[in-house]
Amino acid sequence: MLSLVSTLDRLNVRPGRLFIDGQWLDWSDARFDQLNPNTNEVMTSFAEAGPRGVNLAVAAARRAFDEGPWPHLRAQDRKRLLQPIVERLYAAEEEIAQLQTLDNGIPYAFSRNSRVSAKAAADIFDHFLGWIDKINGETLPIFSSASNMQYMTFRDPVGVVAAVLPYNGPVMTFAMKVAPALACGCTVIVKPSELTNLAVSRLAQILAESDLPPGVFNLVTGGTETGAALTSHAGVDKVSFTGSPVIGEKITVASAPTMKRLSLELGGKSAALVFPDTRSVHTAAQALMGLCSTFLSGQVCTTPSRAVVHRSIMDEFLHHAQAQLRKVRFGDPFDAATTSAPMISRRHQARVLEYVESGQQQGATLLAGGRLPGGDLGNGNWVEPALFADVRNDMKIAQDEIFGPVLSVIPFDTEEEAIRIANDSEYGLAGCIYTTDVSRAFRVARAVKSGSIGVNGFASIPNAPFGGMKRSGVGREGGWSTIEAFTELKTLNFNLDA
Ligand code: NAD
Repeated sequence: MLSLVSTLDRLNVRPGRLFIDGQWLDWSDARFDQLNPNTNEVMTSFAEAGPRGVNLAVAAARRAFDEGPWPHLRAQDRKRLLQPIVERLYAAEEEIAQLQTLDNGIPYAFSRNSRVSAKAAADIFDHFLGWIDKINGETLPIFSSASNMQYMTFRDPVGVVAAVLPYNGPVMTFAMKVAPALACGCTVIVKPSELTNLAVSRLAQILAESDLPPGVFNLVTGGTETGAALTSHAGVDKVSFTGSPVIGEKITVASAPTMKRLSLELGGKSAALVFPDTRSVHTAAQALMGLCSTFLSGQVCTTPSRAVVHRSIMDEFLHHAQAQLRKVRFGDPFDAATTSAPMISRRHQARVLEYVESGQQQGATLLAGGRLPGGDLGNGNWVEPALFADVRNDMKIAQDEIFGPVLSVIPFDTEEEAIRIANDSEYGLAGCIYTTDVSRAFRVARAVKSGSIGVNGFASIPNAPFGGMKRSGVGREGGWSTIEAFTELKTLNFNLDA
């Protein structure tokens, strides 16, 4: 495996510091270790900002917002300050991808070339910079002869933003929050997951080296205590959070007293409905089993972890899903042959295995996987991808977000039943329909309660709204929906008779 120590040295990441008010601060209050999920070795340690670090960061961001000039810059000037960041992100693509692989074990090939790559993050910055001179309000027609008032709307930046990130896509989620926040004229405090700080530290370094005014961008590292201090802080106007529903709930409660604006991108238990008129059962089985077993090994919010398959094609589907499993390769994430990631921690590995156990206890048939691999791989948090057949939708493996390599295959007989199964979930994030019947595709896509849905494939992109219904979250991110989420609408009434 690529030597961790030499990689870190070469990558110029300086752990253990916080970036606040335009300066890197050495932080001696407390530190925590970050482990490599492939080996469980300690890679390095980071500063726990805690309430004191959070107070400093919020004060700096508050000052930069309230005293300006950042929120009031002309569109062209703001764009000019941000543009070099995009170029530096593209230039550092390879390094950032390596760090992300060290962070969460995503195979390097995916860290380099996928929608969670550093290149994708640079594309996201580029996309949101394009909005800066298009954040328009409206001029409304005068309503009646009762008054001669002209109404107009303006979009003002929402203020100080706390951006709290998950472990599974640190680079992409950093970009999806920081880029639009800065484009809209907000100031930002980023807190990465305590499990994955390396790539975000390098991203922060790029912003630190830019010409942004002090306090516009800040980085605090730390775990629950730091996250809670940040998201409950009275000086924060908005929280943009991506993570689990349990923490999303806590943030909702903690932010209520100051009525913070919230964007919550939370978990999912997405259903893929495979109809007998699908063009290829093979393609559907390969795609769904592939999404659960390769890449981040099911540690992706949109993973279609429930395959709802018509009974007439069930045997064929399971045959191809098992064939797909034989393509999975564990090992050195920098080896091009490695297809999958380990679980992020020992704790999460144990949690996934408990779900495999519960599936068997509740009567589902485990066709493959669900075990720990032996040998050298035993040092990492690997779980052999599990394929379950004969799953009922009321089982825990069909209801809970496992966030690991477990595909639950559920049979159905009628279209109505397939829709009912898909909607019988506390989540509503994404989903997919495999069919060649255009009317059915439209009908089912409209009936499934999820923020996004795909027909014969699914992928999210930065310029389309993305987010969840029900327990999958609040709000949308992507394109103009993100601009709305990072701005406040102000209505101006102008008396034309005065
Ligand atoms: P998590 O909720 O455990 O942690 C997310 C972040 O919250 C971390 O930075 C953590 O330190 C912080 N945190 C912990 N306690 C906090 C508190 N009390 N107050 C404020 N912040 C706190 O999530 P995770 O395990 O890192 O990520 C996995 C989850 O994220 C899954 O549920 C997954 O579906 C979800 N996710 C959703 C999307 C989406 O776009 N909908 C994308 C990626 C991940």
